[in-house]
Amino acid sequence: MLRTSALALAMLSASASAASTLPKNVIFFIGDGMGPAYTTAYRYYQADSEVGQVTPTVFDRLMLGSASTFPHDDTVVTDSAASATALATGVKSYNGAIGVDEHKQPLDSMLVEAKRLGWQTGIVSTSQVNHATPASFVAHAELRSQYDVIAEQYYSRRLQENQPLVDVILGGGQRYFPMQHDGLGQSMVAWGYQYTDSLAQLDSLTRTPAMGLFADKGLEYAIDSEHPHRLSAMVSTALRLFEGSKQPFFMLVEGSEIDWCGHGNDIACAMKEMDDFAKALEVAEAYAKRHGDTLVVFTADHSTGGLTLGSNGEYQWDAKVVKQVSASLPTIQKAILNQPAAEMAKTLTRYVEFAFTEPELARLASVNQDKEALYWALSEIISDRSYTGWTTSGHDAIDVPVGAMGPQSQRFVGHHDNIDLSKQLTEIIQAQR
Ligand SMILES: [Zn+2]
Repeated sequence: MLRTSALALAMLSASASAASTLPKNVIFFIGDGMGPAYTTAYRYYQADSEVGQVTPTVFDRLMLGSASTFPHDDTVVTDSAASATALATGVKSYNGAIGVDEHKQPLDSMLVEAKRLGWQTGIVSTSQVNHATPASFVAHAELRSQYDVIAEQYYSRRLQENQPLVDVILGGGQRYFPMQHDGLGQSMVAWGYQYTDSLAQLDSLTRTPAMGLFADKGLEYAIDSEHPHRLSAMVSTALRLFEGSKQPFFMLVEGSEIDWCGHGNDIACAMKEMDDFAKALEVAEAYAKRHGDTLVVFTADHSTGGLTLGSNGEYQWDAKVVKQVSASLPTIQKAILNQPAAEMAKTLTRYVEFAFTEPELARLASVNQDKEALYWALSEIISDRSYTGWTTSGHDAIDVPVGAMGPQSQRFVGHHDNIDLSKQLTEIIQAQR
């Protein structure tokens, strides 16, 4: 009895000191489009269905609450730019806004605040690094589509002449950072950035500032890629680069393409993106456990597709069917477009392990001259077979999950609005002053 209460006391005082301790480093994970149905689906997807055992995922381990995501208008449904601006700056803005308020006035992000205080900073994403979510942490633009205006600010925006705003930049977007003479990328290398364009060469980055761009725009989907864990590899690299420095670091990590698979109502594609995002979060979890001085927070900017588990009146969601699909729908669509019916059936066996029924094959054959119709027929067949439900090819307004670990993580318990998550993180960064 006495021993139990002594232990309880020790635990209490340990958690009290954890509550008052400030983290040295902050890592902020945003799963683009990752509503609660995605984290739920991923739990059943990664479980071993043969054993019938459901094990908690990294999202389950870190889960503390939820967040609302509505933008600064009456639509309730946000886009990634408005939501990223809210998450980066603590101010709600209009759909399309990158780091500017409703009057198009520039807002400073927590990354800029961290740099102002002398921290190292990083941006890691599977999309082009100047896509809406990462862009809102670095740049100001009236419209998310101003990719060149945004990219330029990754280089030109500096708080001190001899200090880059972003010390580690990893993701896609080679076309926005050209390496030929006088190109933006070339200027950055000349200024001092180490650079690689190959995921296989991540080890060649040995110091900051460093930049790795691995695709013309977004990285290839995890499900189609020979590097299905490219986000986790990039996060490991960034942590290695930061570890060499005594300075604290702030890093934004975006699982960008969960959203893209969601727009395409492509459940197998979405689950592979979730798997890479989960592995990346696990890398941060292990780092935070090892060091004890790092706050890790994850959330989403909104949910995509109105994804749900269970459809058509059936009490079931079949992850096994999802696992039997080994390519994204755009890849499968491209492979069978305009193919004669017999050939099409054979091609499908390269990408899908289950056998299509005669009516399914007839349906695909009837539309396979029409790219768009073929795509949605494929999506419907795989969704119906796995009992996956979708309500839209756009975003939805469902609240998103919030999780955290490390010093100050208790601040994220309960329900929040997305701007409050941002304010909490900024406060934590500023408190270290
Ligand atoms: Zn989206």
